[in-house]
Amino acid sequence: MTTLRLAKELTALERLRALLDAVASLGDRAGDVYLVGGTVRDILLGEESFDVDIAVEGDAIEFARALASTLEGRLTPHEKFGTAVVLYGEDKRIDVVTTRTELYDAPGALPTVERAGLREDLFRRDFTVNAMAVSLQPADFGRLVDPFGGRADLEARLLRVLHNRSFIDDPTRIFRAIRYEARYGLRLEEHSGRLARACIEMGLVGDLSSARLRDELQALLEDPGAIGGILRLGELAADRAIHPHLRADANAAELFERALKLRDELHIVVPSWRIGLAVLGRDMSSEEAYGWLERLKVRRRDVDRIAGAITIAPRIVERLRTAQLDPAEIVALADPFAPDAPLLALSREDTPALRDYFARLRDVRIEIGGAELATMGLSESPRVGEVLAELRRRKLNGELDGRESELEAARALIAAAPEE
Ligand code: ATP
Repeated sequence: MTTLRLAKELTALERLRALLDAVASLGDRAGDVYLVGGTVRDILLGEESFDVDIAVEGDAIEFARALASTLEGRLTPHEKFGTAVVLYGEDKRIDVVTTRTELYDAPGALPTVERAGLREDLFRRDFTVNAMAVSLQPADFGRLVDPFGGRADLEARLLRVLHNRSFIDDPTRIFRAIRYEARYGLRLEEHSGRLARACIEMGLVGDLSSARLRDELQALLEDPGAIGGILRLGELAADRAIHPHLRADANAAELFERALKLRDELHIVVPSWRIGLAVLGRDMSSEEAYGWLERLKVRRRDVDRIAGAITIAPRIVERLRTAQLDPAEIVALADPFAPDAPLLALSREDTPALRDYFARLRDVRIEIGGAELATMGLSESPRVGEVLAELRRRKLNGELDGRESELEAARALIAAAPEE
């Protein structure tokens, strides 16, 4: 087999320039150093890779220290794992590991790690297209190390696992596969696809530790290919394996797509993954949604927004169908659990009321506050909040016009019901 050299491709990459210069300047001190994983895949695809992974057949921390010093970057060593991160320039990051093998004691559990050669390090990876390396050693610069046929698979647009236990060892690889499929137009090769389905049928996806599952779902829903990813989740029946009431079907994909479009159009600040989880969980009861999201170890604040959207969005839709609401009533309906719940409601049914809420009403504020009420003799008490809420209600309904009219209305409200 001819040796493929990627020297030209490497040196053409602006983003790698400083790193390559630094490795070259270390000379023999650099040792056996390789670019590995997604970085190599992206070079072959002609895609821009942001984070760079390096594997060293030697001491990763020592190499990373020399690298950080040459790049005038910052080193974060993880002595326990023999890995290190180098941050340099404005936003550049390099992950450095010592080549190693991983041993899985139980499906889905984290593996025990042992030092090993480059080939074994590549063998522990998820797919052949991610199991390639490029040498950075001066004598060998740019040589592609591709023991499992990753380049051929990349050309055929195939994702292939390295061995039959791969998904059983680590079921998160199923989500990674869906992400790569959607992002790069790759496809799980037939045998690998069967292995993924078997792993799902065995219930191993549901057994994943919750934080790992959460990270994978978040990454999938934040990916530019997320809409295709949702469809694929359903096709592989991974949705029901995660939770019996999670539904990743064509309706979910459509609803998600509409929600993202409306979010951008109306300048609503909410991350895609939060919308996505609410869409996927839209058939859950309130208890199920809270229970599931808490098990996933989603942060409390986000749990409230997502579960709120799941339970409240249908009620918002229903209420707007059956009643003519004034602006203050629309705000009272939409504000709790905003922006997620009203955005999901708007994505289900496009109504002028909710468009008005996002375009205008949600930003309506009164000009006076507690300080003004204090000068009128109303000290800190729940009554302050009540008066301010009543003023906002009137302003929303067009009954107040500027600071003077707010002050006047406040005086009248306080006089009508003074503090007990
Ligand atoms: P991206 O970050 O763009 O999703 P990437 O391929 O760089 O793509 P990372 O999650 O940064 O993905 O992982 C870097 C490399 O580590 C991968 O290319 C792969 O070789 C390996 N890897 C990551 N996660 C796993 C896993 N769960 N099982 C096996 N190998 C993995």
